Amino acid sequence: MTTGSELTVLVLGSANADLVVAVERRPAGGETVLGGDTVVMPGGKGANTAVAAGKLGARVALLGAVGEDGYGSVLRTSLESAGVRTDLLRTSARPTGIAYITVTPDGENSIVVAPGANSDVSPADVDASSAALRSAAVLVCSLETPLSTVEHAVAVAARAGVRPLLNLSPVAQLSSETLAQLDPLVVNEHEAAWLLGEPTAEVNGAEDGAEVDGAEVDGADLARRLLALGPRSVVVTLGARGAVVATPQGVHQIAAPTVHAVDTTGAGDAFAGALATRLGEGDDLVPAAEYAARVAAISVTRSGAQPSYPTAEEVDG
Ligand code: ADP
Repeated sequence: MTTGSELTVLVLGSANADLVVAVERRPAGGETVLGGDTVVMPGGKGANTAVAAGKLGARVALLGAVGEDGYGSVLRTSLESAGVRTDLLRTSARPTGIAYITVTPDGENSIVVAPGANSDVSPADVDASSAALRSAAVLVCSLETPLSTVEHAVAVAARAGVRPLLNLSPVAQLSSETLAQLDPLVVNEHEAAWLLGEPTAEVNGAEDGAEVDGAEVDGADLARRLLALGPRSVVVTLGARGAVVATPQGVHQIAAPTVHAVDTTGAGDAFAGALATRLGEGDDLVPAAEYAARVAAISVTRSGAQPSYPTAEEVDG
């Protein structure tokens, strides 16, 4: 399946424990409200992406850090049960990253992220894992780990002939050297607008009725303009409207399968993990993105992030 690499995918990124509590309403400053029972879910963009790839059968490892605490063990176990190698997941002196999430009855989330050990992932960690990195077909990064570490990993990967994919989330300004290596840069439409220096409202279009047509035009235009910033290729994800791929050869619309969405948490991470898996197996970018859209569409029909990700059999079946 892989092209002689030891790993199909190396993910450099975060692992967080998501602590979720349902509340009737959010407390104001100085106030206390009672919530439901805490639900602990494995999360973090890096871990989500790695689990998505692992469930699809990729040979995948997560390069990152967790704390020497119970949450770190929960995260290691969930990664391993999805087939993700954790030998590059360092135990840090800092606590495991935690996302404190309150959910109100209208379904709205409020989130505080304490990055903890994720902040500790350094260029030296990348160097310590360079043999594994060099053995991979694809490197996938996102930005819940320090930008300097990600930029270093992209440079090492590019020098070694490993294809670097960056899901630029949360969005940040990249050096032109890093941007020029990305193949692809993956962003959602809000991140795309930010990179292009535009207010998001202009991108989304104000009217629902005009959203599909307007968004298709906007998506292609966004992708084309992002490509002009220097990456080798671009994928702009557009939620229920699918995605747009831009390469020097042209721009392609990727349709999203029509599904009944119940929870879109982690859809972008599912997309990135699936995209990397297929690129690592030798697919071209457009068919890989079509596959990723099928994987992400299945993920939004189920609750949660990692538990919602399908196996290869579920995608093909
Ligand atoms: P993010 O989660 O990073 O904001 P998006 O919302 O663009 O990213 O979603 C990522 C991908 O997930 C989309 O490109 C699409 O393929 C898929 N997706 C998201 N929402 C839906 C939906 N409601 N129906 C079908 N596919 C979806």
